[in-house]
Amino acid sequence: MTTYIFGHKNPDTDSICSAIAYADFKEKTGEKDVVAARIGNINNETKFVLEKFKIAPPMLLKDSTGKKMILVDHNQEAQSIDNRDKGEVVEVLDHHNINFASQGTIPFLTESVGATSTIIANMYFDTKTQLDEKIAGILLASIVSDTIIFKSPTTTEKDKITAQKLAKLLGIKDIESFGIEMFKAKSVWGKMTAEDILEMDRKEYDMSGSKVSITQVETVDYKDLVPRKKELLCELSRIKEIRGLDLSVLLITDIIKEGCLLLAVGDTKKIEKAYNKKLTNGEVWLNGVLSRKKQVVPVLEEVF
Ligand code: MG
Ligand code: MG
Ligand code: MG
Repeated sequence: MTTYIFGHKNPDTDSICSAIAYADFKEKTGEKDVVAARIGNINNETKFVLEKFKIAPPMLLKDSTGKKMILVDHNQEAQSIDNRDKGEVVEVLDHHNINFASQGTIPFLTESVGATSTIIANMYFDTKTQLDEKIAGILLASIVSDTIIFKSPTTTEKDKITAQKLAKLLGIKDIESFGIEMFKAKSVWGKMTAEDILEMDRKEYDMSGSKVSITQVETVDYKDLVPRKKELLCELSRIKEIRGLDLSVLLITDIIKEGCLLLAVGDTKKIEKAYNKKLTNGEVWLNGVLSRKKQVVPVLEEVF
């Protein structure tokens, strides 16, 4: 019976590439019938990464009924495949907060590192498993993506050391410019509708009974998106209505200025309280805020 490995909805580079790499690792270490999958569309950054390292995108898995599943880069039900309980989760490999109702005893590995790919790369290193350049490439890209070129406070020493090892293997001398090239590939807003932008990396959270949606997009210059503010606020409102949210947030993260422009619709008083700053026309600049996981989600959970 096939086991499907996949990351979260609205997959980012780490979700797609850790599924591909973990399937490869499983196969190389003797497990059979393990397939990398995805449960959403591939974003421009990931497309760039897969093309650069000449790897085909994983298959789209639409239904979990009767399937064996390994979750990577997520464990929360809200971020997972629809009707997950119709299948069987046989393993979890993640670097996010645990919010998982167990169906028994399963291998469940979480580590507080900046990317799931850091954990997987070290599995290759620790077991001396053959690591092809292609796989090394996508693992490096995922670490650089998730840690925002090591600028995010989620970054650990282990992420940096792992990335350096991978870069050495690939002959990449300048990880920073490799990262900027990747983030530039992601920031092609002209071709994207407001809906595309909002759905690219959107996650929903239950905060003490309130429904909150937070999208994060990384840019090399947040000002590129400012002319589209009205359109983005409209889309935030639309999502709020159709998803029945209390708060709908967009974080436009500027990886060069190292901060984010936050746009929000709904119970914005909570944001003002959380950061002790006023929103003007639905926006506020938050200096130094780069991580949704560490600097936004827990801060909002606290006020909700
Ligand atoms: Mg992710
Ligand atoms: Mg990740
Ligand atoms: Mg991410």
